[in-house]
Amino acid sequence: MYHRFNENKYPSTNIKMDIFEEHINIIKNSDFSFHNPNNFDEQFNKPKQKKEILITIDDAFESFYTEAWPYLKENKIPFILFVSTEPVGKRGYMTWEQIKEVEGNEFANIGHHSHTHEYLIDVSNEEFILDIETANKIFLRELGYIPNLFSYPFGEYSKFMKDYISKNRKNSYSKTQTLQISKLNFLRSKKIYLILIAILMREMFGTNQKQILLIIL
Ligand SMILES: [Zn+2]
Repeated sequence: MYHRFNENKYPSTNIKMDIFEEHINIIKNSDFSFHNPNNFDEQFNKPKQKKEILITIDDAFESFYTEAWPYLKENKIPFILFVSTEPVGKRGYMTWEQIKEVEGNEFANIGHHSHTHEYLIDVSNEEFILDIETANKIFLRELGYIPNLFSYPFGEYSKFMKDYISKNRKNSYSKTQTLQISKLNFLRSKKIYLILIAILMREMFGTNQKQILLIIL
């Protein structure tokens, strides 16, 4: 899960592009492949034959567009860009034009990341619903659909939030699939490092594959 690229004044959410490219190269040279979430709904419950890594980017910062996007595009690396609708077009964030340009590529997927990107766990249930529905309307207006993948801001959610997101898959936005990357909240941006450490450990020590999958999942 990545956030900012080459924005070194935000060290906790930033990654330097040379390090990011190194991550991608390590994954390419390992026996892991990049997961394309296009068929996420279908593939979600199927046992996995191959070990796959899903690249996700949160928040749609402008630095994603200027720094990482040209590289991912050139290499056709699949990813999900989780967009919060309120900050779109504000200083430091991507515009709808840029999001649409990215979205027009088969390997690029847009995910739902709420409207305000507030700590939604702290607001009332009504405010939470209003936030999600506001984002739904904006996504519909700008992209013509409501993204079917959802990621909780800050990775935090209550039972109510989880139930609401899951329940509404069948109703107002039937394809919404709750992507619970948030379970890995405590790993946050360090997740990819753990995956890479797992790959390297196996290369070096021949750690058995089950253990490695446990580390990843
Ligand atoms: Zn976020």
